[in-house]
Amino acid sequence: MSHEAGSSLSVSIATFGCKLNQSESEAILAQFRGAGYRIVDDAAEADVFIVNTCAVTAAAERKARTMLRSRRRNPRALVMAVGCMAERSPQELSRMEQVHVVLGNDEKNRILDYVVLQRAETATSVRIGGIHQLERMDISHPAAGLRGRTRAFLKIQDGCSQHCTYCIVPHVRGRGRSLPLDVVTEHTRQLAGEGFAEVVLTGVALGTYGRDLGLTDGLARVLEAVQSIPGLRRLRLGSVEPWVVSDRLLQVMADSDVICPHLHLPFQCADDPLLRRMGRPYSVRDIERILNRAMTLRGDWGFGSDIIVGFPGESPGSFTATRRFLSESPISYLHVFPFSVRPGTPASRLPDTVAPSEVRARVKDMKALDSQLRLRFRKRHLGTLQPVLFESRRSDTLLAGHTANYLDVYSDAPDTLAGRIHPVKITALHSNGVVGTLT
Ligand code: SF4
Repeated sequence: MSHEAGSSLSVSIATFGCKLNQSESEAILAQFRGAGYRIVDDAAEADVFIVNTCAVTAAAERKARTMLRSRRRNPRALVMAVGCMAERSPQELSRMEQVHVVLGNDEKNRILDYVVLQRAETATSVRIGGIHQLERMDISHPAAGLRGRTRAFLKIQDGCSQHCTYCIVPHVRGRGRSLPLDVVTEHTRQLAGEGFAEVVLTGVALGTYGRDLGLTDGLARVLEAVQSIPGLRRLRLGSVEPWVVSDRLLQVMADSDVICPHLHLPFQCADDPLLRRMGRPYSVRDIERILNRAMTLRGDWGFGSDIIVGFPGESPGSFTATRRFLSESPISYLHVFPFSVRPGTPASRLPDTVAPSEVRARVKDMKALDSQLRLRFRKRHLGTLQPVLFESRRSDTLLAGHTANYLDVYSDAPDTLAGRIHPVKITALHSNGVVGTLT
């Protein structure tokens, strides 16, 4: 059965985890679209149902299992479990009666071959492929978002060589590896040429881009190389490790009209002894230096951060220290994660675990701070004029989009503005952002 035989078939994908996984799901769909498949959102309609899994937390794995077991699916569908959980527990997934194919991260670019194989042989056994083959970096085509012509996610880096004590990622994504700089430039040129209003650079450890290629300050070099590509209107960075944020990187971002003044920095906490237990190679003083340096270069940054709550050894004092630091910082939003024990990681063997009820209380407290920081950030923009990239309709009256510094904006705007950057005046607060009036 050739790939082209997909013309009457449909595919649906459920994605868990990070921006990189989302961009890989888009790249998977691009392969099926190329083979003539219809992309459907409802798994009940799909002939091929894919779950692109995440293994960063126990909760993410639980949700993937539930999705794979879901009865709301076409009973004749070919079910594929791919990605990080497949890398971590292929046998467990292959024992699930609903699953026909289990694929590692490196085989996502050949997923159609497995569909053809599995269908051709009307296989009775579960096919497992590409587990722990994490050496390559596919340069053939940009793993980019092709849903709509608004934002494209460009994967320029994969894997991680850091080994933070709580993290499973290096085991399921391999060592850090990067696309060559000229390939990154070519892919960005291609996406700008295809009319994407915003290109988002992604990776597992994006900030460590180029280290495997012998490049210092690799991410700053990428930005310097691509920012003046004709037709490139907005360039955004995915999450960037704090220890690689150099003055050169901040300078190129601050001076640019194309690079979004938005940095998502996973600080995890603001307590030095805890950072050392996590294996994070920076201190609270380093975090302060980054934020202060950035704010001296320009004042309209949007800063986000990932925070782990309840890490073993997190005392009430260290939690309070993190909370106070964040509330006094220019950070505008938080992603709050309760500590999740990942089997096989050093942190899973650490003493001084925090009681689950205490973890829940601290998560609630940190999320309350997140709401305050978001409100503070929104209020700061009232009355200002902002270029907004409009994306999608959220209600009969409101078209949603976001500013360069990652503020969500809702406007009474026509659909014709979707995918376009348009100036608006920020006039009021909205439950999820702000309201903007077209100017
Ligand atoms: S930097 Fe640390 S937390 Fe991030 S992927 Fe690497 S090991 Fe995991």
